[in-house]
Amino acid sequence: MNLEKLYQQTIMDYNNNEFKYDIKDPTDVERGHNHSCGDDLTLVIKTKGEYILDASFIGTGCAISTASTAMLTSIIKNKKIEYVKELVEIFFEMMKGNAISEDKKNLLEDAAILEITKDMPARIKCSTLSWHSLKIILEKY
Ligand code: ZN
Repeated sequence: MNLEKLYQQTIMDYNNNEFKYDIKDPTDVERGHNHSCGDDLTLVIKTKGEYILDASFIGTGCAISTASTAMLTSIIKNKKIEYVKELVEIFFEMMKGNAISEDKKNLLEDAAILEITKDMPARIKCSTLSWHSLKIILEKY
């Protein structure tokens, strides 16, 4: 399986509705809008104490922004907020093309595949959209 194929497969896996659902009494809601592509995705999070209890999203976006958001929500559920802050930092370092260790990259799980889009000007806004929303939310904590 080449990288392109793996990329397509991962994107496909995350473009189903199992990641999109209603969260009752969310603590944080942050809308992300990518004008160049038309992605309009709102991140919905529920925190309790030091933890992110649940994460989901609403809205519509292209395959890449939707997959990226689904990956994001799946890796931050039931994680400590401080740890998630670290994940966001690692993600943006990766997307900027800065050198990060394999161990750190592995923490991103499937989202590490989004690195492929870092050199695609038309796509990088799609893959980073909800990560920006998450960053805004985490600044409150
Ligand atoms: Zn897009």
